[in-house]
Amino acid sequence: MEITEKVAYLKGLAEGMDLDTDKKVGKLLAAVIDVLDDVALELEDIKDEQAELADGLDAVSDDLEDVEDLVFETGEDDEDDGYYYDDLEEDEECYATTCPTCEETIYFDESVLEDGEVICPNCGEKLEFDLDGLEEDADGEDGN
Ligand SMILES: [Zn+2]
Repeated sequence: MEITEKVAYLKGLAEGMDLDTDKKVGKLLAAVIDVLDDVALELEDIKDEQAELADGLDAVSDDLEDVEDLVFETGEDDEDDGYYYDDLEEDEECYATTCPTCEETIYFDESVLEDGEVICPNCGEKLEFDLDGLEEDADGEDGN
C-alpha cells in the first residue's frame, strides 16, 4: 500500500469516528493527518523526480560508456601507433627498386621483402625478390 493510500485510509477512519475537531485531541489528530497527507504527496513527487533523475542518469551513463570506449580505444591506438612508428623507424628499413617494366621507382619496407614480392603501383607488374640475394649483397658491401 502506498503511503498516500495509507493516509487516505487514516482520513477515512478519522471521519468515520466522527472526530470532533473542535476538541484538543481531535484537532491534533486532524492536524497530524494533514501533515501526513502533505508528507505523502511530497514523497510521491520526490519519487517521481528520482525516477526521472535515474532515467537521466542511465542515459548519461550510457553516453559516458560510449565516450569511454572512444577515449580509451583512441588513447591505446595513439600509444600503439607511436610505438608502431617508432618500431618502423628503428627496426624496419625502407627499400627502393626500379620496376623493369615501367621504370617507376617503387618504395617498400621489410615486410614486403619477406613476402618476396611487390606489385608495382604504377603498372601493376609483380616484382619478385630473392631475400637471400639481397642480404648477401649487403654483407658483401660491408665486407668489402
Ligand atoms: Zn611498373
